Amino acid sequence: MEKSFSETVDSLKTIYNFSAEDLQILERVDAAAEELVTSEFDHYLKRELNTDAPKIAKKHGILGLPIDKKYGGLGANPLVSVLAGERFGQVGLGFSTFFGANVMLGQMSIQMWGSDEQKERYLRPAAAGDVIMAFGLTEPEAGSDPLSMKTSYEKKGKNFVINGSKYFISNGSIAKAMVLFAKSKENSNEISAFLIDTDKNGFNVDMELKEKIGLFTSDTAMLSFHDLEVPEENLLGTLGGGMYVAYSSILNGRMGVASACTGVIQDCLNSTVNRARERIQFGKEIGKHQLVQEHISEIVQNLEKARWPVYITALKALEYNKNPTNELVRELDQRSAIAKKIASRAAWESADHAVQVFGGFGYSLLSPVGRHYCDTRVTRIYEGTDEIMELKIAGHVLGKGFRAF
Ligand SMILES: Cc1cc2nc3c(=O)[nH]c(=O)nc-3n(C[C@H](O)[C@H](O)[C@H](O)COP(=O)(O)OP(=O)(O)OC[C@H]3O[C@@H](n4cnc5c(N)ncnc54)[C@H](O)[C@@H]3O)c2cc1C
Repeated sequence: MEKSFSETVDSLKTIYNFSAEDLQILERVDAAAEELVTSEFDHYLKRELNTDAPKIAKKHGILGLPIDKKYGGLGANPLVSVLAGERFGQVGLGFSTFFGANVMLGQMSIQMWGSDEQKERYLRPAAAGDVIMAFGLTEPEAGSDPLSMKTSYEKKGKNFVINGSKYFISNGSIAKAMVLFAKSKENSNEISAFLIDTDKNGFNVDMELKEKIGLFTSDTAMLSFHDLEVPEENLLGTLGGGMYVAYSSILNGRMGVASACTGVIQDCLNSTVNRARERIQFGKEIGKHQLVQEHISEIVQNLEKARWPVYITALKALEYNKNPTNELVRELDQRSAIAKKIASRAAWESADHAVQVFGGFGYSLLSPVGRHYCDTRVTRIYEGTDEIMELKIAGHVLGKGFRAF
């Protein structure tokens, strides 16, 4: 079982021929992750947003990881991106959530749906780390069912005017720009996506949610919009095509969450093995007690269970990039749901096993496994709950007539 990030990458060389450039990107990711560890730890203990993380990530040039080189990104392919996500997950889900909302959801929406002009205006500065992005879909009364959103837009002259609210938005109070989804005031079947500048009149951060049960280093905010004017050139994708933007972006987001969860499991494994080798009880290392070995065995199995669906989905995404077909989109939709469902559950269970092996120290935020335990729970909720993943996975097999929602 691999331990270090380079061993994980090496283990994949039998199934994928990494280019020298791929490996350089991964070295860069590893260096950034190393530097992020201390700052994440310090801010976590103070239960505060890690304001240093964006600066460190920018310094290492990783904030445009999967973005085309043409727009200043690193051009990482989907397999390299999930390996990077795995490495960030080892650092902690606070950073993964910041990265996921900024890059995998915000920036990737523009990469997939933006015009050249929008990419120059928004994607280039975001990929350089000068603009942090957020992705606003969820509302107080529209979570799992985003089609019931109430935030509305109305065309007035050359602007769209937006009113409404979004809640639980990662990076919501630190983002300079965001992808926002709203429903036409005239036609309730029409949802569109817009690029929003958060410094404009009418954009309000109502509350930064500090009372979370984990994920302290990541920003989560409640937002509202009062006659927010958005120029017509900021429509992202087509008028009424907002849910295409949302669903295709969330597919990337789910891969990001799944890969971060495998990183959490790897970190739980590494920490637990060290602890089991060092901690002595009843005159011997606790790793020599068979019931402790059972916990470690469960974490190892979880890692294997979680990792491969993520890698296989990434390889399918690579295939799609070379030869995009509707069939592959459907397959990716299902595979990313499977990967997210398995990995998030496996990460949560692994953190629980790890806390048990750590004993009292595990029940403390001073231990990495204690922090993972608090953080992983959300991965079974955001970017689609466990239940929504189940319905999606089964729905793909049963066919259209059996859609549960
Ligand atoms: C820390 C954090 C960060 C987040 N970041 C973002 C972000 O950046 N952008 C964003 O847009 N959103 C974000 N979210 C919101 C997140 O995506 C939603 O919380 C999630 O989609 C679930 O919606 P909900 O909370 O309204 O739960 P609900 O939809 O109210 O669901 C409650 C329960 O009912 C179940 N349920 C609902 N419908 C069905 C059904 N048809 N069948 C079976 N069970 C069902 C759910 O699975 C769940 O168990 C974030 C949330 C958190 C906690």
